[in-house]
Amino acid sequence: MKIETKSCRVCGKEKLNEEFEVDKRIKSGDQRTNRCYACKYEATLKYRATRTGKISRKLENAKQRAKRFGVVDDLTITEVKEVVGYFEDACVYCGEELEDDIVLEHVRSFSEDGPNSKGNIVISCDPCNRKKNNLPLIDFHYRNNESFTKERFFALVDYLAEINCTDRWNVVDDLTAHKTDFTLRKVRTALDKYYKEGVANGLRG
Ligand SMILES: [Zn+2]
Ligand SMILES: [Zn+2]
Repeated sequence: MKIETKSCRVCGKEKLNEEFEVDKRIKSGDQRTNRCYACKYEATLKYRATRTGKISRKLENAKQRAKRFGVVDDLTITEVKEVVGYFEDACVYCGEELEDDIVLEHVRSFSEDGPNSKGNIVISCDPCNRKKNNLPLIDFHYRNNESFTKERFFALVDYLAEINCTDRWNVVDDLTAHKTDFTLRKVRTALDKYYKEGVANGLRG
């Protein structure tokens, strides 16, 4: 039996057919390309280390999470690049310069039904992303107004207005409505728990 080999177009080495990557788009034969798996792996690693590679992986992660939460997802890689470019690699909340550890931050979090859309994403540092968690933007601002200052908050409101083709007062209305809804849910849950535990003894209890 003849052993089938061919040479890789990238490294030039003669290898067994089965060492070449399969591409389903090739309709004929065994669907194998002329690039060996070792070279394909190398190329993948190189791509992942690039800026675009890193950003696109963050986008992929966001898309998987959006699916789990069942929220709207229409974000594209071009849009993410536009957003990253717009904020010039600085955390939108604290202003810290970001190197490679950019977080795709959702102003309204997925758990609060925020969409994975251009109008809902900014970039932040990891600590700010963790601190904000699922807080409404207004609450996050009040709790962290030393780093996420009034100036930064208002600038973000204007950015959100521009990107969502509306005016700042509409954005403020939405943010306020979210804050109210969020607070209401929190208080209701807490009250419910309080009465279920039967510890309501009045002020003098
Ligand atoms: Zn090769
Ligand atoms: Zn930050």
